[in-house]
Amino acid sequence: MRKQIAISLVSFALSVLLWVAFTGSIKLSLAFFLLLTVHEMGHYFAARQLGWNVTLPLFTPIGAFISGGDIFSKTATQEAYMAICGPLYGTIAALLCYAYGLFTHDTICLQAALIGFFLNLFNLIPFSPMDGGRIMMAVERRVCIFVGIPAIFAFLYYFAGSNPINLLIVLFIIQAGWQDIVARRQMAQERPEYFAVGWQTRVAVLGVYLLLAVFLFVTMRISAFQLTSLMQ
Ligand SMILES: [Zn+2]
Repeated sequence: MRKQIAISLVSFALSVLLWVAFTGSIKLSLAFFLLLTVHEMGHYFAARQLGWNVTLPLFTPIGAFISGGDIFSKTATQEAYMAICGPLYGTIAALLCYAYGLFTHDTICLQAALIGFFLNLFNLIPFSPMDGGRIMMAVERRVCIFVGIPAIFAFLYYFAGSNPINLLIVLFIIQAGWQDIVARRQMAQERPEYFAVGWQTRVAVLGVYLLLAVFLFVTMRISAFQLTSLMQ
C-alpha cells in the first residue's frame, strides 16, 4: 500500500509539473489534477465497495487510471456502477470548483471547472476505454458501435477541431474500443450470465447516464458563457 501511495503521488507530481510547463499556471494545473483525482477516487471507492482489488490512481499528463480488479469475474451491473461513480464524483468536484470560482470571480477556478465538465462528459461517450462504454455494458453493449463511434467523431468535430493530433487520438481510441468490442462479443458467448441484466436495471442505468450527460452538457455551456463574460 505504501508503495502504491508513493507511485500515485510521484505520478501526480510529475504530471502536474508537465502541465505547469505547458500551461504556465500552477493553479490551473493543480486544480485540473485534483478534479481528476476526485473522478478516479470515485472509481476506486466503488471498486473497493464491490470487493475488487484495484490500485490507487496512476497519473499521466493526459489522464489517470486505476488498474486491477478482474472485471470479467463480475457482472455488467457492477461494472456499470463502478464506471459511473467516476464521472459522478468528478461532476460534484467540478461543480464545487465552479461555485467557488463564481463566488470569488476566480477565472482560473472557472477554467478548471469547465475543463472538468468537458472531461467528465467526454468520458461518458459510450465507447470503451471511456467510462460510458463500461456503463453501456449494463444497458445494451451494441450502443458502443452505433452511438459510440459517431459520438467520438462528433466530439472531435465540435470541440477539439479535426487537426492531425486529435485525429490520431481518435484513431487510437477506436482501435482500443474495437478490441474491447471483440472481447465482449466473445464473452457474451462464453459467459452470457455476465450480461444478464433485468430491464428495470437497464432503464435505471440509462436514466442516470442520460441525466448526468445532459447536466454536464448544460453546465459546460453555462460555465463557458460565464467565463467569457468575466474575462471581457
Ligand atoms: Zn473514469
